[in-house]
Amino acid sequence: MTPGFKAYPRPTSCNGVEVDILGSEGCPHIESDTRVPEGARKGDSMRGFTALLLVALCHIHAAVSTNTVGPASSLLGCKASQLLTGPNELQVAEFRSKLSDPTALNTHFSYDYSASLITDGLANGTDPVYVYAMPRFIVTASVPEDVVAAVQFAADYNLQVAALGSGHQLAGIALPECGVTIEMYKFQKLNFDPATNLATVGMGVKTGTVAEALTHQYHQLPSIGECFDVCVAGFALQGGLGLIFRYHGTAADFIQSMDVVTVGADKKAVRQTISATSQPDLFWGMRGAGGNLGVAIEYTTKTFAVPVNSQTIRYGFDIADGEDVLTWYAGVVPKCPRSINPGAFLTGGGKPASLFLFFNNVGPITAETEACFQMLFDYAAPRALSSSQPGQPYTTLDYLDFSNQTSVYSECVNNTAATYWNTYFSANGSSTTGTLSPDLIQAALTQARTNPYDTFSIGFLAGPSLPQGEDAQYFTPNAFSFRDSYYVFVGDTWDVPADDASHISHMKQASAALKAHCVGNYINQLMMEDPDDSVNSYEAGIFARLEGVKAVYDPNNLFRDLRYVHPKLQAPTGILNGDIYDALPFSAAEAMAPAPVNAVSGAEAPHPMQG
Ligand SMILES: Cc1cc2nc3c(=O)[nH]c(=O)nc-3n(C[C@H](O)[C@H](O)[C@H](O)COP(=O)(O)OP(=O)(O)OC[C@H]3O[C@@H](n4cnc5c(N)ncnc54)[C@H](O)[C@@H]3O)c2cc1C
Repeated sequence: MTPGFKAYPRPTSCNGVEVDILGSEGCPHIESDTRVPEGARKGDSMRGFTALLLVALCHIHAAVSTNTVGPASSLLGCKASQLLTGPNELQVAEFRSKLSDPTALNTHFSYDYSASLITDGLANGTDPVYVYAMPRFIVTASVPEDVVAAVQFAADYNLQVAALGSGHQLAGIALPECGVTIEMYKFQKLNFDPATNLATVGMGVKTGTVAEALTHQYHQLPSIGECFDVCVAGFALQGGLGLIFRYHGTAADFIQSMDVVTVGADKKAVRQTISATSQPDLFWGMRGAGGNLGVAIEYTTKTFAVPVNSQTIRYGFDIADGEDVLTWYAGVVPKCPRSINPGAFLTGGGKPASLFLFFNNVGPITAETEACFQMLFDYAAPRALSSSQPGQPYTTLDYLDFSNQTSVYSECVNNTAATYWNTYFSANGSSTTGTLSPDLIQAALTQARTNPYDTFSIGFLAGPSLPQGEDAQYFTPNAFSFRDSYYVFVGDTWDVPADDASHISHMKQASAALKAHCVGNYINQLMMEDPDDSVNSYEAGIFARLEGVKAVYDPNNLFRDLRYVHPKLQAPTGILNGDIYDALPFSAAEAMAPAPVNAVSGAEAPHPMQG
């Protein structure tokens, strides 16, 4: 036991799913299925880097109306042409017979059920963005063979297919309309080898499970996110920015190998282990654009030593000083060592102290880290309205106390709030060498000053750069884009459905204002409201290479299109090109109603998702 770390009792399984950890057993306090939340578990305090980020990020609305089942509604959202060319009942039955568990195939679910697979967002669908797409088939895979069978089924009938981790991508990009969604939550493998500090993680494992298992016993962590409830799957396969991403790198950066299922030109689903030396192009692409190329079953990743306590401090300023404070911040960040996570947050609502700076060290205390904190202290102490540690450069906290329900991580489960967010990467500014552009600063200040909600926030965090030093030997280039930028977060969370329209309207305005001064998107935290959002999630050179990789490893475009446009934003093709949609109920209440009898017979029912 490493001094300073607490020992926690360990059960033998997580919600009945065995967890295989070398030298330990189980994972306390972790849910394995986000669809069945236990209820709000808000913590009593918000602390440090994570706390400030989570003010914006982690007020979860479950969006869950639990598992509504409605016969015939599995056809909702499908075009008539898709129904005609899709599998018939016998072919579906044949597929079902290939699964390890025949009940793993769900074809009778409702729109509500489909939406419930997405962990967050708005349940009431007052905005078209929040009306999720609906797959026609949902497969709860238990073993790799189920994944292979499901991907083969999709390939046989030209159905779009996607894996679903914990459904934390709020736009619901894991739900291909009229396609196949493969739920991965039963893949709970978690092995750790103390000799190499490599961990092998199943794609259903959540952040908190990894943290619980590895920090307390081994004092190690892979690059993980801020919220215990988020699955490592989509997080790592599309980047993965969290606790130690500035210090070491993204989650994608340190994946050493991956067990994946893809479909080539011959339309045969293939399962293989890929790495920098085995299918290197696919390995490159899966780490940054995983959902576009295949299904990952598990991966092996490098882990890093984590500190017992982290140093942190937060200062609050009058937003009237915003331009000066943010300009200072952008100038000083590049001078701080990588182990320090600097963040600047603006909030709306017109409160006096609506601008915060926080600095958080997740590495050892060195002369460089001390100098960084001293710069912050010297600048902020005379100007700030508030300090988390008055008169001191920093305080310390048990930053990695994941099992404590009062820790910042408990803020990741709030079943009452709706969330809306976008994340961009700044233009003309580098978190290691440059500054935030004055235009971006002005845009942010204008939005914060005019937004009426104190739940609204904008964050500027120093983004990841290329892994350095000893870390470099575990790194191979991948498709994650926009390193060295500032990670520009804009988000809001609220509880009252009647307020949806107003919050969303302000969020759209703020998102557009900030995006105008940024170079790209972070697809993991994006509402996918613009048709070019998917393309703009990659640098041009990386996108071009991805197109080449896609042409080889997914030539039939069964996995998410690289030029994906959220179904709700697409032109009303049902009217324009003669395809006829089912009448998809717009509201949750209507979703309970039986499917219209004329749905497939040619009636020109409007597609309710078109608003
Ligand atoms: C409360 C909250 C906190 C968050 N905190 C952070 C954070 O700190 N840092 C950060 O970077 N992001 C954060 N996110 C965003 C998060 O990383 C993304 O939403 C991520 O996609 C979630 O992973 P998932 O497995 O739940 O994805 P899902 O929503 O299930 O899927 C997202 C995409 O990943 C694909 N995918 C999922 N599993 C697989 C697989 N096995 N193989 C291939 N493709 C797969 C899906 O097909 C889809 O395209 C947060 C989100 C929420 C809601």
